[in-house]
Amino acid sequence: MNDKPNSIEARDIAYHLHPYTNAKKHLEAGPLVIDRGEGIYVFDNNGKRYIEAMAGLWSVGVGFNEERLVNAATEQMKRLPYYHTFTHKSHGPVIELAEKLVGMAPVPMSKAFFTNSGSEAIDTALKLIWYRANALGQPERKKIIVRNRAYHGVTIAAACLTSLPANHRSFDLIVPDVLRMTCPHHWREALPGESEEDFATRLAKELEDTILAEGPETIAAFFGEPVQGAGGVVVPPATYWQKVQAVLRKYDILLVADEVICGFGRTGTMFGSTTYGIEPDIMVMSKQLSSSYLPASALMMNDRVFGPIMEESDRIGTLGHGYTASGHPVAAAVALENLKIIEERDLVGNAAAMGRRLRDGLDALTDHPLVGEVRGVGLIAAVELVTDREARTALETPGALGALVNAHLQEAGLISRAMTDAIAFCPPLIITEGEIDELLSLFRIGLDKTLAALPKGSVR
Ligand code: PMP
Repeated sequence: MNDKPNSIEARDIAYHLHPYTNAKKHLEAGPLVIDRGEGIYVFDNNGKRYIEAMAGLWSVGVGFNEERLVNAATEQMKRLPYYHTFTHKSHGPVIELAEKLVGMAPVPMSKAFFTNSGSEAIDTALKLIWYRANALGQPERKKIIVRNRAYHGVTIAAACLTSLPANHRSFDLIVPDVLRMTCPHHWREALPGESEEDFATRLAKELEDTILAEGPETIAAFFGEPVQGAGGVVVPPATYWQKVQAVLRKYDILLVADEVICGFGRTGTMFGSTTYGIEPDIMVMSKQLSSSYLPASALMMNDRVFGPIMEESDRIGTLGHGYTASGHPVAAAVALENLKIIEERDLVGNAAAMGRRLRDGLDALTDHPLVGEVRGVGLIAAVELVTDREARTALETPGALGALVNAHLQEAGLISRAMTDAIAFCPPLIITEGEIDELLSLFRIGLDKTLAALPKGSVR
Protein backbone atom coordinates (compact mmCIF):
# COMPACT_ATOMS: atom_id res chain seq x y z
CA MET A 1 0.00 0.00 0.00
CA ASN A 2 1.23 3.47 -0.88
CA ASP A 3 0.38 5.93 1.87
CA LYS A 4 2.07 8.89 0.23
CA PRO A 5 -0.23 11.88 -0.24
CA ASN A 6 -1.73 12.02 -3.71
CA SER A 7 -3.41 15.29 -4.53
CA ILE A 8 -1.26 18.29 -5.20
CA GLU A 9 -2.88 20.02 -2.20
CA ALA A 10 -2.07 17.07 0.09
CA ARG A 11 1.54 17.05 -1.10
CA ASP A 12 1.84 20.77 -0.38
CA ILE A 13 0.54 20.16 3.15
CA ALA A 14 2.89 17.22 3.59
CA TYR A 15 6.15 18.77 2.44
CA HIS A 16 5.99 22.55 2.25
CA LEU A 17 6.43 25.14 5.00
CA HIS A 18 4.97 28.38 3.66
CA PRO A 19 6.28 31.87 4.31
CA TYR A 20 3.81 34.31 5.90
CA THR A 21 1.31 31.55 6.65
CA ASN A 22 -0.06 30.10 9.88
CA ALA A 23 1.82 26.80 9.73
CA LYS A 24 -0.72 24.88 11.77
CA LYS A 25 -3.82 26.25 10.07
CA HIS A 26 -2.27 25.34 6.74
CA LEU A 27 -2.51 21.64 7.64
CA GLU A 28 -6.30 22.11 7.61
CA ALA A 29 -6.81 24.86 5.08
CA GLY A 30 -4.28 23.67 2.49
CA PRO A 31 -3.04 25.80 -0.39
CA LEU A 32 -4.70 27.69 -3.21
CA VAL A 33 -2.67 26.24 -6.07
CA ILE A 34 -2.14 28.73 -8.88
CA ASP A 35 -1.48 27.09 -12.18
CA ARG A 36 -1.09 29.76 -14.84
CA GLY A 37 -1.35 33.45 -15.55
CA GLU A 38 -2.66 35.71 -18.29
CA GLY A 39 -2.49 39.52 -18.16
CA ILE A 40 -3.89 40.64 -14.80
CA TYR A 41 -5.47 37.22 -14.19
CA VAL A 42 -4.25 33.99 -12.64
CA PHE A 43 -6.02 30.63 -12.79
CA ASP A 44 -6.04 27.97 -10.11
CA ASN A 45 -5.60 24.26 -10.76
CA ASN A 46 -9.38 23.88 -11.12
CA GLY A 47 -9.44 26.48 -13.86
CA LYS A 48 -11.04 29.20 -11.72
CA ARG A 49 -10.00 32.69 -12.79
CA TYR A 50 -8.97 35.46 -10.38
CA ILE A 51 -8.04 39.09 -10.85
CA GLU A 52 -4.60 39.33 -9.25
CA ALA A 53 -5.28 42.68 -7.61
CA MET A 54 -1.92 42.60 -5.78
CA ALA A 55 0.20 41.88 -8.86
CA GLY A 56 1.48 38.87 -6.90
CA LEU A 57 3.40 40.59 -4.13
CA TRP A 58 3.12 44.17 -5.45
CA SER A 59 5.43 43.15 -8.19
CA VAL A 60 4.23 41.76 -11.53
CA GLY A 61 3.97 45.11 -13.31
CA VAL A 62 3.73 43.79 -16.88
CA GLY A 63 1.21 41.04 -16.11
CA PHE A 64 1.46 37.29 -15.95
CA ASN A 65 2.31 36.20 -19.50
CA GLU A 66 4.73 38.66 -21.06
CA GLU A 67 6.44 36.82 -23.93
CA ARG A 68 9.18 39.38 -24.28
CA LEU A 69 10.48 38.56 -20.80
CA VAL A 70 10.41 34.86 -21.60
CA ASN A 71 12.41 35.52 -24.75
CA ALA A 72 14.89 37.80 -23.00
CA ALA A 73 15.54 35.08 -20.41
CA THR A 74 15.81 32.35 -23.04
CA GLU A 75 18.28 34.28 -25.18
CA GLN A 76 20.48 35.13 -22.20
CA MET A 77 20.30 31.55 -20.88
CA LYS A 78 21.60 30.31 -24.21
CA ARG A 79 24.38 32.88 -24.46
CA LEU A 80 25.69 33.04 -20.88
CA PRO A 81 23.44 31.50 -18.23
CA TYR A 82 25.59 32.62 -15.33
CA TYR A 83 28.53 34.69 -14.51
CA HIS A 84 29.52 36.59 -11.41
CA THR A 85 30.58 40.14 -10.75
CA PHE A 86 33.24 39.62 -8.05
CA THR A 87 36.93 40.46 -8.50
CA HIS A 88 36.51 42.89 -11.43
CA LYS A 89 34.44 40.44 -13.56
CA SER A 90 31.44 41.75 -15.45
CA HIS A 91 29.10 41.00 -18.35
CA GLY A 92 26.91 42.87 -20.82
CA PRO A 93 23.49 42.68 -19.12
CA VAL A 94 24.72 43.88 -15.71
CA ILE A 95 26.65 46.77 -17.23
CA GLU A 96 23.67 47.80 -19.31
CA LEU A 97 21.31 47.55 -16.34
CA ALA A 98 23.59 49.59 -14.07
CA GLU A 99 23.84 52.30 -16.72
CA LYS A 100 20.10 52.21 -17.30
CA LEU A 101 19.21 52.55 -13.60
CA VAL A 102 21.68 55.36 -12.94
CA GLY A 103 20.26 57.12 -16.03
CA MET A 104 16.68 56.72 -14.77
CA ALA A 105 17.35 57.98 -11.26
CA PRO A 106 15.35 61.07 -10.29
CA VAL A 107 18.41 62.62 -8.61
CA PRO A 108 22.09 62.23 -9.54
CA MET A 109 23.29 58.75 -8.61
CA SER A 110 26.77 57.36 -8.96
CA LYS A 111 26.68 53.55 -8.84
CA ALA A 112 24.29 50.60 -8.75
CA PHE A 113 24.95 47.48 -6.64
CA PHE A 114 23.01 44.29 -7.38
CA THR A 115 21.31 41.88 -5.01
CA ASN A 116 18.47 39.34 -5.31
CA SER A 117 15.71 40.37 -2.93
CA GLY A 118 14.47 43.51 -1.28
CA SER A 119 15.78 42.26 2.06
CA GLU A 120 19.27 41.67 0.67
CA ALA A 121 19.28 45.13 -0.85
CA ILE A 122 18.24 46.69 2.47
CA ASP A 123 20.89 44.68 4.35
CA THR A 124 23.43 45.84 1.82
CA ALA A 125 22.36 49.47 2.21
CA LEU A 126 22.70 49.20 5.98
CA LYS A 127 26.13 47.57 5.76
CA LEU A 128 27.40 50.13 3.27
CA ILE A 129 26.13 52.97 5.46
CA TRP A 130 28.02 51.58 8.46
CA TYR A 131 31.10 50.97 6.29
CA ARG A 132 30.90 54.56 5.09
CA ALA A 133 30.66 55.89 8.65
CA ASN A 134 33.84 54.04 9.54
CA ALA A 135 35.48 55.29 6.37
CA LEU A 136 34.68 58.84 7.40
CA GLY A 137 36.21 58.26 10.82
CA GLN A 138 32.77 58.47 12.46
CA PRO A 139 32.40 55.02 14.03
CA GLU A 140 29.75 56.32 16.46
CA ARG A 141 27.42 57.22 13.55
CA LYS A 142 25.51 53.93 13.35
CA LYS A 143 21.91 54.51 14.48
CA ILE A 144 19.11 54.12 11.98
CA ILE A 145 15.74 55.86 12.00
CA VAL A 146 12.61 54.17 10.62
CA ARG A 147 8.86 54.66 11.07
CA ASN A 148 6.30 52.43 12.76
CA ARG A 149 4.61 50.06 10.31
CA ALA A 150 7.66 50.21 8.01
CA TYR A 151 8.42 47.12 5.95
CA HIS A 152 12.01 46.73 4.82
CA GLY A 153 12.33 42.94 4.64
CA VAL A 154 12.96 39.93 6.83
CA THR A 155 16.64 39.00 6.90
CA ILE A 156 17.99 39.77 10.34
CA ALA A 157 19.13 43.33 9.70
CA ALA A 158 16.18 44.17 7.42
CA ALA A 159 13.74 42.67 9.93
CA CYS A 160 15.19 44.95 12.59
CA LEU A 161 14.26 47.93 10.44
CA THR A 162 10.84 46.49 9.64
CA SER A 163 8.48 47.80 12.29
CA LEU A 164 5.56 45.37 12.23
CA PRO A 165 5.02 43.12 15.26
CA ALA A 166 4.78 39.82 13.34
CA ASN A 167 8.31 40.26 12.04
CA HIS A 168 9.76 40.58 15.53
CA ARG A 169 7.68 38.20 17.65
CA SER A 170 9.61 35.08 18.72
CA PHE A 171 12.54 35.70 16.38
CA ASP A 172 15.04 37.01 18.95
CA LEU A 173 16.37 39.59 16.53
CA ILE A 174 19.65 41.15 17.52
CA VAL A 175 18.27 44.63 17.14
CA PRO A 176 20.89 47.24 16.32
CA ASP A 177 20.26 50.83 17.33
CA VAL A 178 16.97 51.49 15.56
CA LEU A 179 14.80 54.49 16.41
CA ARG A 180 11.13 54.25 15.44
CA MET A 181 9.10 57.34 14.57
CA THR A 182 5.33 57.75 14.31
CA CYS A 183 3.76 56.28 11.18
CA PRO A 184 2.61 59.13 8.91
CA HIS A 185 -0.98 57.90 8.72
CA HIS A 186 -3.16 60.93 9.35
CA TRP A 187 -6.46 59.04 9.72
CA ARG A 188 -5.05 56.85 12.51
CA GLU A 189 -2.37 58.95 14.16
CA ALA A 190 -3.46 62.59 13.98
CA LEU A 191 -4.65 64.39 17.11
CA PRO A 192 -8.31 65.40 17.17
CA GLY A 193 -8.80 68.28 14.74
CA GLU A 194 -5.16 68.24 13.57
CA SER A 195 -4.80 69.13 9.86
CA GLU A 196 -2.58 67.05 7.56
CA GLU A 197 -0.15 69.95 7.43
CA ASP A 198 0.04 70.28 11.22
CA PHE A 199 0.39 66.52 11.54
CA ALA A 200 3.35 66.56 9.13
CA THR A 201 4.91 69.44 11.07
CA ARG A 202 4.50 67.53 14.32
CA LEU A 203 6.16 64.41 12.88
CA ALA A 204 9.08 66.45 11.56
CA LYS A 205 9.47 67.94 15.04
CA GLU A 206 9.35 64.48 16.59
CA LEU A 207 12.16 63.50 14.22
CA GLU A 208 14.24 66.55 15.10
CA ASP A 209 13.68 66.12 18.84
CA THR A 210 14.75 62.46 18.58
CA ILE A 211 17.88 63.36 16.65
CA LEU A 212 18.83 66.01 19.18
CA ALA A 213 18.14 63.73 22.14
CA GLU A 214 20.24 60.90 20.67
CA GLY A 215 23.00 63.18 19.39
CA PRO A 216 23.03 63.99 15.65
CA GLU A 217 26.57 62.62 15.36
CA THR A 218 25.27 59.13 16.30
CA ILE A 219 22.62 58.92 13.55
CA ALA A 220 23.62 57.36 10.25
CA ALA A 221 20.48 57.24 8.14
CA PHE A 222 16.73 57.44 7.82
CA PHE A 223 15.09 54.59 5.88
CA GLY A 224 11.61 55.13 4.48
CA GLU A 225 9.21 53.81 1.88
CA PRO A 226 7.78 56.82 -0.01
CA VAL A 227 4.39 55.14 0.54
CA GLN A 228 4.47 52.44 3.21
CA GLY A 229 3.18 49.29 1.55
CA ALA A 230 2.92 46.20 3.73
CA GLY A 231 2.20 48.42 6.76
CA GLY A 232 -1.16 49.18 5.16
CA VAL A 233 -0.57 51.45 2.13
CA VAL A 234 0.15 54.54 4.18
CA VAL A 235 0.03 57.62 1.98
CA PRO A 236 1.80 60.42 3.85
CA PRO A 237 0.53 64.02 4.01
CA ALA A 238 1.53 66.05 0.94
CA THR A 239 4.26 68.04 2.72
CA TYR A 240 5.53 65.26 5.01
CA TRP A 241 8.58 64.32 2.96
CA GLN A 242 9.66 67.93 2.41
CA LYS A 243 9.59 68.54 6.14
CA VAL A 244 11.38 65.30 7.02
CA GLN A 245 13.99 65.93 4.38
CA ALA A 246 14.75 69.40 5.70
CA VAL A 247 15.48 67.95 9.16
CA LEU A 248 17.72 65.20 7.76
CA ARG A 249 19.70 67.72 5.72
CA LYS A 250 20.15 69.98 8.71
CA TYR A 251 21.88 67.18 10.64
CA ASP A 252 23.69 65.60 7.69
CA ILE A 253 21.80 62.30 7.95
CA LEU A 254 21.58 60.02 4.90
CA LEU A 255 18.16 59.36 3.39
CA VAL A 256 17.42 55.90 2.00
CA ALA A 257 14.29 55.62 -0.16
CA ASP A 258 13.00 52.07 -0.10
CA GLU A 259 11.43 51.99 -3.56
CA VAL A 260 10.87 48.22 -3.52
CA ILE A 261 7.11 48.71 -4.01
CA CYS A 262 6.93 52.29 -5.27
CA GLY A 263 9.65 51.99 -7.92
CA PHE A 264 8.94 51.80 -11.65
CA GLY A 265 5.57 53.44 -11.90
CA ARG A 266 3.50 52.31 -8.97
CA THR A 267 2.70 55.78 -7.61
CA GLY A 268 1.93 57.21 -11.06
CA THR A 269 5.46 58.53 -11.69
CA MET A 270 8.58 56.45 -12.27
CA PHE A 271 9.60 56.49 -8.59
CA GLY A 272 7.90 57.27 -5.32
CA SER A 273 10.76 59.73 -4.80
CA THR A 274 9.57 61.62 -7.90
CA THR A 275 5.98 61.73 -6.63
CA TYR A 276 7.01 63.22 -3.29
CA GLY A 277 10.08 65.25 -4.28
CA ILE A 278 12.36 63.01 -2.23
CA GLU A 279 16.08 63.38 -2.90
CA PRO A 280 17.56 60.18 -1.53
CA ASP A 281 21.22 59.33 -1.09
CA ILE A 282 20.43 55.65 -1.61
CA MET A 283 17.52 54.09 -3.52
CA VAL A 284 16.56 50.46 -2.99
CA MET A 285 14.67 48.68 -5.79
CA SER A 286 13.23 45.25 -6.51
CA LYS A 287 9.83 43.74 -7.45
CA GLN A 288 8.78 45.72 -10.56
CA LEU A 289 12.45 45.95 -11.55
CA SER A 290 12.04 42.51 -13.15
CA SER A 291 8.26 42.25 -12.66
CA SER A 292 9.38 39.39 -10.38
CA TYR A 293 9.78 37.03 -13.35
CA LEU A 294 13.16 36.35 -11.78
CA PRO A 295 14.53 37.49 -8.42
CA ALA A 296 16.35 40.80 -8.83
CA SER A 297 17.06 43.81 -6.68
CA ALA A 298 19.46 46.69 -6.62
CA LEU A 299 20.49 49.76 -4.75
CA MET A 300 21.82 52.97 -6.14
CA MET A 301 23.96 55.42 -4.23
CA ASN A 302 25.17 58.94 -4.87
CA ASP A 303 28.76 60.14 -4.68
CA ARG A 304 28.33 61.16 -1.07
CA VAL A 305 27.94 57.47 -0.28
CA PHE A 306 30.15 55.96 -2.94
CA GLY A 307 33.17 58.24 -2.38
CA PRO A 308 34.06 57.15 1.17
CA ILE A 309 33.23 53.50 0.35
CA MET A 310 35.66 53.60 -2.54
CA GLU A 311 38.42 55.02 -0.35
CA GLU A 312 37.78 52.53 2.46
CA SER A 313 37.80 49.51 0.13
CA ASP A 314 41.13 50.69 -1.23
CA ARG A 315 42.52 51.15 2.25
CA ILE A 316 41.34 47.71 3.41
CA GLY A 317 41.94 45.94 0.10
CA THR A 318 38.47 44.91 -1.02
CA LEU A 319 34.79 45.62 -0.48
CA GLY A 320 33.99 42.41 1.38
CA HIS A 321 30.35 42.15 0.41
CA GLY A 322 28.40 40.60 -2.49
CA TYR A 323 26.28 37.63 -3.47
CA THR A 324 26.89 34.72 -5.83
CA ALA A 325 23.97 35.99 -7.90
CA SER A 326 24.75 39.75 -7.62
CA GLY A 327 23.84 41.04 -11.09
CA HIS A 328 22.85 37.59 -12.39
CA PRO A 329 22.93 37.89 -16.19
CA VAL A 330 19.53 36.26 -16.82
CA ALA A 331 17.79 38.35 -14.17
CA ALA A 332 19.56 41.46 -15.50
CA ALA A 333 18.45 40.70 -19.08
CA VAL A 334 14.86 40.23 -17.90
CA ALA A 335 14.98 43.45 -15.87
CA LEU A 336 16.28 45.40 -18.87
CA GLU A 337 13.52 44.08 -21.13
CA ASN A 338 10.95 44.75 -18.41
CA LEU A 339 12.08 48.38 -18.07
CA LYS A 340 11.92 48.75 -21.87
CA ILE A 341 8.32 47.53 -21.84
CA ILE A 342 7.38 49.89 -19.00
CA GLU A 343 8.79 52.81 -20.99
CA GLU A 344 7.61 51.82 -24.48
CA ARG A 345 4.04 51.18 -23.38
CA ASP A 346 3.96 54.15 -20.99
CA LEU A 347 2.84 51.90 -18.16
CA VAL A 348 3.65 54.72 -15.75
CA GLY A 349 1.09 56.93 -17.48
CA ASN A 350 -1.34 54.02 -17.48
CA ALA A 351 -0.80 53.51 -13.76
CA ALA A 352 -1.63 57.19 -13.14
CA ALA A 353 -4.79 57.05 -15.30
CA MET A 354 -6.01 53.68 -14.04
CA GLY A 355 -5.14 54.71 -10.51
CA ARG A 356 -7.52 57.67 -10.81
CA ARG A 357 -10.27 55.36 -12.02
CA LEU A 358 -9.61 52.90 -9.20
CA ARG A 359 -9.62 55.71 -6.67
CA ASP A 360 -12.87 57.19 -7.99
CA GLY A 361 -14.49 53.77 -7.78
CA LEU A 362 -13.25 53.16 -4.25
CA ASP A 363 -14.27 56.66 -3.17
CA ALA A 364 -17.78 55.84 -4.39
CA LEU A 365 -17.83 53.06 -1.77
CA THR A 366 -17.20 55.36 1.18
CA ASP A 367 -20.88 55.22 2.14
CA HIS A 368 -20.66 51.43 2.56
CA PRO A 369 -21.08 50.56 6.26
CA LEU A 370 -17.81 48.56 6.26
CA VAL A 371 -15.64 51.26 4.69
CA GLY A 372 -13.73 53.55 7.06
CA GLU A 373 -11.07 55.19 4.91
CA VAL A 374 -10.01 55.00 1.28
CA ARG A 375 -6.41 55.96 0.60
CA GLY A 376 -4.03 55.64 -2.31
CA VAL A 377 -1.77 57.30 -4.84
CA GLY A 378 -1.21 56.19 -8.42
CA LEU A 379 -2.09 52.52 -8.78
CA ILE A 380 -1.75 51.54 -5.12
CA ALA A 381 -4.64 51.88 -2.74
CA ALA A 382 -6.18 50.49 0.41
CA VAL A 383 -9.57 50.46 2.00
CA GLU A 384 -9.65 50.48 5.79
CA LEU A 385 -12.52 48.32 6.98
CA VAL A 386 -14.55 49.16 10.05
CA THR A 387 -17.65 47.92 11.77
CA ASP A 388 -18.00 51.19 13.67
CA ARG A 389 -17.37 54.12 11.39
CA GLU A 390 -17.42 56.71 14.12
CA ALA A 391 -15.06 54.93 16.52
CA ARG A 392 -12.93 53.77 13.54
CA THR A 393 -12.82 50.25 14.89
CA ALA A 394 -13.40 46.85 13.32
CA LEU A 395 -14.36 43.53 14.94
CA GLU A 396 -12.87 42.75 18.33
CA THR A 397 -9.92 40.70 17.05
CA PRO A 398 -7.70 42.91 14.89
CA GLY A 399 -7.53 41.49 11.39
CA ALA A 400 -10.66 39.36 11.70
CA LEU A 401 -12.74 41.62 9.47
CA GLY A 402 -9.93 41.96 6.95
CA ALA A 403 -9.57 38.17 6.75
CA LEU A 404 -13.31 37.72 6.33
CA VAL A 405 -13.57 40.24 3.50
CA ASN A 406 -10.48 38.78 1.88
CA ALA A 407 -12.00 35.30 1.92
CA HIS A 408 -15.20 36.60 0.30
CA LEU A 409 -13.16 38.40 -2.33
CA GLN A 410 -11.18 35.28 -3.14
CA GLU A 411 -14.41 33.33 -3.49
CA ALA A 412 -15.71 36.02 -5.83
CA GLY A 413 -12.53 35.75 -7.96
CA LEU A 414 -10.48 38.65 -6.64
CA ILE A 415 -7.10 38.12 -4.98
CA SER A 416 -6.20 41.03 -2.72
CA ARG A 417 -4.39 41.23 0.58
CA ALA A 418 -5.64 42.05 4.03
CA MET A 419 -3.17 43.96 6.16
CA THR A 420 -4.85 43.80 9.54
CA ASP A 421 -8.19 45.36 8.56
CA ALA A 422 -7.09 47.17 5.44
CA ILE A 423 -7.60 45.61 2.01
CA ALA A 424 -4.86 46.55 -0.43
CA PHE A 425 -5.07 46.98 -4.18
CA CYS A 426 -1.92 47.01 -6.25
CA PRO A 427 -2.83 45.46 -9.62
CA PRO A 428 -0.44 45.02 -12.56
CA LEU A 429 0.46 48.31 -14.27
CA ILE A 430 -1.07 47.02 -17.53
CA ILE A 431 -4.62 46.98 -16.14
CA THR A 432 -7.33 48.45 -18.42
CA GLU A 433 -10.45 50.51 -17.66
CA GLY A 434 -12.74 47.50 -18.08
CA GLU A 435 -10.58 45.46 -15.73
CA ILE A 436 -10.59 48.21 -13.09
CA ASP A 437 -14.37 48.23 -13.28
CA GLU A 438 -14.48 44.45 -12.92
CA LEU A 439 -12.17 44.64 -9.88
CA LEU A 440 -14.41 47.28 -8.30
CA SER A 441 -17.58 45.32 -8.87
CA LEU A 442 -16.05 42.15 -7.37
CA PHE A 443 -14.92 44.21 -4.38
CA ARG A 444 -18.43 45.50 -3.81
CA ILE A 445 -19.79 41.94 -4.02
CA GLY A 446 -17.25 40.81 -1.42
CA LEU A 447 -18.13 43.71 0.91
CA ASP A 448 -21.87 43.05 0.60
CA LYS A 449 -21.44 39.32 1.22
CA THR A 450 -19.36 40.05 4.31
CA LEU A 451 -21.92 42.52 5.60
CA ALA A 452 -24.67 39.95 5.10
CA ALA A 453 -22.63 37.30 6.94
CA LEU A 454 -21.89 39.44 10.03
CA PRO A 455 -24.12 38.98 13.08
CA LYS A 456 -26.95 41.49 13.34
CA GLY A 457 -25.97 44.48 15.48
CA SER A 458 -22.23 44.03 14.96
CA VAL A 459 -22.10 46.85 12.41
CA ARG A 460 -22.94 50.40 13.45
N1 PMP B 1 11.09 46.73 1.19
C1 PMP B 1 9.80 46.88 0.88
C2 PMP B 1 9.21 48.26 0.81
C3 PMP B 1 9.01 45.76 0.59
O1 PMP B 1 7.71 45.91 0.31
C4 PMP B 1 9.60 44.48 0.63
C5 PMP B 1 8.80 43.22 0.31
N2 PMP B 1 7.45 43.31 0.37
C6 PMP B 1 10.94 44.37 0.99
C7 PMP B 1 11.66 45.52 1.25
C8 PMP B 1 11.62 43.06 1.09
O2 PMP B 1 11.69 42.42 -0.13
P1 PMP B 1 11.90 40.84 -0.24
O3 PMP B 1 10.61 40.20 0.15
O4 PMP B 1 12.21 40.66 -1.70
O5 PMP B 1 13.05 40.48 0.62
